[in-house]
Parts: sequence; C-alpha cells; structure tokens
Amino acid sequence: MAKKQFKAESKRLLDLMINSIYTHREIFLREIISNASDAIDKLAYKALTDQNVGLSREDFRIRVVLDKDARTITVSDNGIGMTKEEMEENLGVIAHSGSFKFKSELDKGENDDVDIIGQFGVGFYSAFMVSDKVTVLSRAYGADAAYKWESEGADGYTVTECDKETVGTDVVMHIKPDAGEEHYGEFLETWRIKELIKKYSDYVRFPIRMDIEHTEYVETEELDEHGHKKTEPVTHTEEETVNSMVPIWQRSKAEATDEACIAFYKERFHDTEDPVAVIRVNAEGLTSYRALLFIPAKAPYDFYSRDYKPGLALYSSGVMIMESCADLLPECFRFVRGVVDSPDLSLNISREILQHDRQLKTIAGNLENKVKAELLKLQTADPEKYDTFWAAFGRQIKYGIVGDYGMKKELLKDLLKFYSSNDEKLTTLKEYVSRMPEAQKYIYYAAADSLRTAAGLPQNEQVKAKGYELLYMTEDIDEFAVQMLYSYDDKELRSVAAGDLGLETEEEKKEQEETAGKSKELLDFLKETLKDDVADVKLSKSLVSSAVCMSYEGEITLEMERYFRQMPGEAGEKIRAKRVLELNPAHPAFASLTAAFGADRDRAGKIARVLCDQAKLLAGLPVEDLAAYSEAVCGLL
Ligand code: ADP
Repeated sequence: MAKKQFKAESKRLLDLMINSIYTHREIFLREIISNASDAIDKLAYKALTDQNVGLSREDFRIRVVLDKDARTITVSDNGIGMTKEEMEENLGVIAHSGSFKFKSELDKGENDDVDIIGQFGVGFYSAFMVSDKVTVLSRAYGADAAYKWESEGADGYTVTECDKETVGTDVVMHIKPDAGEEHYGEFLETWRIKELIKKYSDYVRFPIRMDIEHTEYVETEELDEHGHKKTEPVTHTEEETVNSMVPIWQRSKAEATDEACIAFYKERFHDTEDPVAVIRVNAEGLTSYRALLFIPAKAPYDFYSRDYKPGLALYSSGVMIMESCADLLPECFRFVRGVVDSPDLSLNISREILQHDRQLKTIAGNLENKVKAELLKLQTADPEKYDTFWAAFGRQIKYGIVGDYGMKKELLKDLLKFYSSNDEKLTTLKEYVSRMPEAQKYIYYAAADSLRTAAGLPQNEQVKAKGYELLYMTEDIDEFAVQMLYSYDDKELRSVAAGDLGLETEEEKKEQEETAGKSKELLDFLKETLKDDVADVKLSKSLVSSAVCMSYEGEITLEMERYFRQMPGEAGEKIRAKRVLELNPAHPAFASLTAAFGADRDRAGKIARVLCDQAKLLAGLPVEDLAAYSEAVCGLL
C-alpha cells in the first residue's frame, strides 16, 4: 500500500524528533500519556450526558505495557478514540492553530529547537525520539470500524482497517535498537518507566496502570542445616496504579494539612529541614492557577553559585511542563521552592508561546507579592523563624535591592534586617525609625567587616552620645544596598564614616570653624605630608575619646573600597575611596602634634604618619608598610 506523505512542516518536526538530543527523549511518555488522558477526558465528558457510553468515571484508565522481547511500549486508553479521518488529520499533519508560529520559533536557531523539546514537548511526534516505528490502533466512540495508523518516520504513514473491539486507542512504540552509547533499552525497563510516570505524569487524573512484578520468599518443606524451613523466591505480577492522581496542591487545606505539605516539600525538594513557611495560592479569574510554595530554612550548598537552578515546577492540570521555570519568580526570591499548576497553560508548544508568556507574567507578579506578604507576616508572627530565614537568604534580598538598578527596592526594603546598637539584635528599618527621637535627622550605620569592628568604630561615640541608635553592617553587599536604598521613610541612611553626620548645633559648628581656622597651617602641613594616603585632613566633629578616625568623601565608601580591593583586575586596583583623616582637637595626641609642629617638623611628620596608620587600622584598612609603622611608633616612644 502506498505511503502517504507528511506535510512539510510535520516532516521538519519529525526530523527534529528523530535527531533529538538524549536528555530530552524521556518526555515522549509524558506526551503520549497526556494525549491518552485528554482522550479519556473527552469521553468522560460525553458520558455525563450520554447514557450510551456506558462507562463511569471509575472505569477510565490508561495502561502501559512493556514487551522486552518485541521491544515495544504500548500506551492504551479507553478514551474517545479516533476515526480514520481523525487519524489522518491529527497524526498526519500538525494541523493546529499555532503550527505556523511554532515553525517560526524553530527557525530562530538550532539551540532554540532543543529548548522547545525539553521544556514543552511537541506532542505525538515525540514518540519518534525513541521509536523507529509507531503503530496507533484506534476505535472511535460510535464508529463501526477500527483503524491502524503506522509510520516509520519521515518517509510517510499508512492507514488501514484493523481489528479492535473496544473503544479507545493503543499507541505502540517500537523502541529503537541500542547502538553504541545510545541505550534505548532503558525504556523497556519497568523501573525506568515507572520513574518517568512518577516524574512527569504523577498527577494525571486517571489511573495509569502497569504490571509490576513482586518477589516474595515462601517457605518450602525442605529444611536447612539448622532445621529451619528453607525459603524460595516466588514472583508474581500484579496490575498496579503507578500515579498518585490528585496532586497535593489541588487538595483543600483540610485534606492537605501543613504537615502533609511539608512532607511533600522534603521529599520533592530533597531538604531535611522543615521550611520556614508554606504558601498556598488558589487564584481564579482571568488566569487561574494553584500554587504551593515553600521558603526553605537553609540555603542549599550551591545556592550562591551558578549551579543552583532557581524556579518553580510548572504543571498544566497535573502534567509537568517544566521542572524549574525560572520566569515564575523574581531573582530576589530565587530561594523559593514549589509548584504552580494552571489549566490555562498548554502542554503543547504549538499554541502560542507568547501567550504563555503573558500568563506566566501575571502569575509571577502575583507570586512575588504573596512571597513578600508571607515574609512580612513571619517577621512579626515568628521573629525567630524569620531570623533563620534571614541568616540563610538575607544576602539574596540585599542583592535584590542592588540588582536591576534598584527596581525591586520598594518590594524588598521592609524585609531588611541589620544588627543594632539598641539591643545587639537584628532589627528592621521600620523598627529603627519608630525608635528615632524627633531631633534625629539620619538613620546612622557603621560598616566594617565584623560586628566587633563596626561596633568599635571611633565615630560611633558621638552618635551614641546623642542617644541615637546605630545599625551595624558587616557584609560586603550592605553598603551597596544602602546606597541603592538611599533613604527609608524619608530618613536618609548615613554612614558614621561619612564626613557630615548632622549632629552639631549651629554654635558647635561655629566653634569648630574657628578652631579649624587657627589650625589651618598645621592642617595644610598634614595634607602635604600625607597626600599619598588621604585626600583631606580635617578636625573631627564626631570624635569623643579617640584621637583619630578615617572617614570618606564622595560616592565610594571605605567598605566599598575594601570590597573592590578583593576583586581581580582594574576595579580591584583602581577603585578607592576618597579618604579623609579626622583628628580630635581635644585629644592629647593633637596637643603633641601641635607642639611638634611648632618645634620640630620632622617629628611632627612622624606623628602624623603614625596617627594616619592608626586611623586606617581602626577602619579595618590595610597598613601597607607595617615595618615602617612599627619603627615610627617605637621611634616616638
Ligand atoms: P496535541 O495533543 O497538543 O493536540 P498531539 O500531536 O500530541 O498534539 O496530538 C494530535 C492530536 O491527535 C490530538 O489533539 C488528538 O486529537 C489526537 N490524539 C493523539 N493521541 C490520541 C489518543 N490517544 N486518543 C485520541 N486522540 C488522540
């Protein structure tokens, strides 16, 4: 019998399937099972109004049969079936609305092809990824005859009448022979097929049944050397339902308790710890979907590396479309785990990808707000749990503030927590602001690479003397986040190492200017002596008991300089803060310096260097020449 030819588009798709890369092949089963489930859906729907169907919901099932000798996988359903015409129409052509768009997607480039197969699948044709021949036997509901469609791939297909008593469809896939590295034989192993059903089709709403072998050890009449009855293995085969059918996220809260959800999380996402929060979403409207999300308690070991795969598992009515769909979450919430299921999303690529995108965007937007709301709730309801979360993912939130040119800072600012001088505990900016006295202009913070150094910065004293609270910032990302944030609740964030802390009264300012005027000559001398180290030398407004401190002017803070110093290349070498050495005019060291300046310039220069190095050490900056420093100190002693 003459073979009918596939339409050009279909041929192209077939070629793609036949030559697909290995990792994507396994989705063929999901596609075939999902077609079976759709066909059952159609007949089950008919059965609601048509008594003649004679089947009720419990009677529907999908059977998967493996035959190692014949090298076939057969997927049978008792769904609506196909007439001869439908076979020609549906299996001979990609006659779907989106096919043209699909093709233009494919034309974009070779790499896109591969992603499309992996992420969305391409329906019936995917059977050719693993088969060298596909036979479809089908009897349509209400039809007089059954038909057989058969194809060995790109060279066409045949349709003939055949024997099939029951309504429904059998798809028989003749598995390709193993060749070299290619082990198609794995798809004839029960464990492997069971695994694939669990992975992709676990929540298909009809039972997927398979023959599963069981081995039992039964006692025989024979005795062993101890006089016990010997046992021997007896295997028997039982038909079992492999899929669990109703996904946990489709169940009501009463049916799926938090405990059950947590157990699901641990198994599915391989975590040994309970998540800090479980988020359930059941959205109905233009885009309806259900989501079950989890906020883990600890970061996976690879979380801050490139290996970590962010995203949520994406399902369409219980069938997995994508294992991790990164587009469903903003980067700042990449730690969230979970699943999203929307019946509005199609399994098949041939219905516009663009449309998916819009729906995905709506879902992603909603989820972003849900995650934030849940975290804020946790912050007040269970601060301890929140702090566990913060320890694991606070850094990610800060990166989120800095990233995308600050686009997410409004979303994230209330999630921030920093150590505070108030009680040496973590505090939010909101809490800080609520404690601010009326006269306090800025939110003050001290930055250093450890809590101890930050808490011990000499500039802190003046702020504390006013009774103001300080936040301590100890992570390299902190100052970038703060600079992006700029202010909270209209209160500017100010580093204690920034020149002007806005602490003095007008009178104090005047007094300082007078002192500075008197010391102008000395300051000029110091600037000249230390010009390689600092951009400016000033009399300090913020020191109480310390002789010196280092502050900065301009955009780049001392902490940022420290951060960049660790980086290789140009940034590491060139990015420097404009350092300002501040001297405390009330300190005895200043008196010694002034005296030396009048009597012995050489000695004054030495004192100046030592003071400058002191300031560097206090700020956690490196002193380049330690030997010279030590010698200078000893010389002065
Ligand atoms: P899609 O399922 O996205 O429409 P497919 O290429 O997977 O695309 O299938 C093409 C069509 O073939 C289906 O839409 C359906 O009409 C028909 N079909 C496939 N498998 C079956 C089946 N088991 N029973 C009935 N019809 C089927």
